[in-house]
Amino acid sequence: MSLDENCIFCKILRGEIPSDKVYEDGDMLAFRDIHPQAKVHVLCVPKSHFSYLSEMGEKERGLVGKCMAKLPEIARLAGIEKGYRVIINQGEDAGQTVFHLHIHILGGQNMGEKLL
Ligand code: AMP
Repeated sequence: MSLDENCIFCKILRGEIPSDKVYEDGDMLAFRDIHPQAKVHVLCVPKSHFSYLSEMGEKERGLVGKCMAKLPEIARLAGIEKGYRVIINQGEDAGQTVFHLHIHILGGQNMGEKLL
């Protein structure tokens, strides 16, 4: 896996910063968000550093696909299989703050008004 020296999620992937792990395999780590925006808020982080959707090469595309395919199991492990919202904040206008692509999985409550 290619990781970035200063990226906070790469530090979590290297075990330099602790995380509340929900699921891990060779391709991804899923852990609880430190500032949860719902009763249950898990982040799924691919084990390769890239900042944006636009930076996905062939390898990263495969990794993100594997992350998406694993979300139902991660949701089940987090106890929110009844329903959850999946979000990627892409870029500054969307409020992205950590520039290592990640998927938010939110649930454990009624998720309220929908954007769409
Ligand atoms: P985004 O705003 O889409 O880039 O999401 C970044 C998310 O990472 C935010 O929801 C933060 O609360 C979360 N976050 C930042 N640092 C940590 C950390 N050390 N452990 C868990 N979640 C974190």
